[in-house]
Amino acid sequence: MISAKIDAIKADLGEAVTLIAVSKTKPKEMIIEAMQNGHVDFGENKVQELVDKHESLPKDIRWHMIGHLQRNKVKYIAPFVHLIHGVDSERLLNEINKQGLRNNRVINCLLQFHIAEETSKFGFSLEEVKSIIAQNKLQELTNVCIKGVMGMATFTDNKNQIETEFKKLASYYNEIKETMGTETFKVISMGMSGDFKIAVDNGSNMVRIGSTIFGPR
Ligand SMILES: *Cc1c(COP(=O)(O)O)cnc(C)c1O
Repeated sequence: MISAKIDAIKADLGEAVTLIAVSKTKPKEMIIEAMQNGHVDFGENKVQELVDKHESLPKDIRWHMIGHLQRNKVKYIAPFVHLIHGVDSERLLNEINKQGLRNNRVINCLLQFHIAEETSKFGFSLEEVKSIIAQNKLQELTNVCIKGVMGMATFTDNKNQIETEFKKLASYYNEIKETMGTETFKVISMGMSGDFKIAVDNGSNMVRIGSTIFGPR
């Protein structure tokens, strides 16, 4: 049932878009069910829950940290996390690099941009990231790999607004890509259950879908 839903969404998205199944608050049994046809990308937004699930579920799962990440908690997920979507400050980047070094691994990250109207949402401004790049700060982080960008649109029924915000993130991505190159910098993580179609139409190649797959929370 759950794996059939995942297959249907994947068929709809096509090969070029990666689906992250957002399993936050959902029990391990549902994740096992979701894996039945080979799906391995799952997203969580709380460190403790992510660590618990990683410990007790199959090790071939690729865990995506999609929520706001506090610096003092990076150490708990650094040994295993596949991709951190919500990197929103230089201090957090430095900490991820430090924990990457400690764990002898390069940790994949996305730069989260603030594209929504709500001030409650996190993320860099374009100016902040440009300044970090101009100072060669990213190149100094040997144990961090910046894979792309992530953003969340405003929670609204206004499709035009959502579209405008996603277009903005795609344009940030294109601008940064010119300095970063395309070899590793290739992910635009945008789109959730309510807006992923708009996101894909506007350049998203990674969507984070929870309630459409697992039911309401
Ligand atoms: C919960 C969450 C999602 C998934 O939301 P749904 O509306 O359930 O699809 C996607 N991205 C982030 C950052 C989330 O916290």
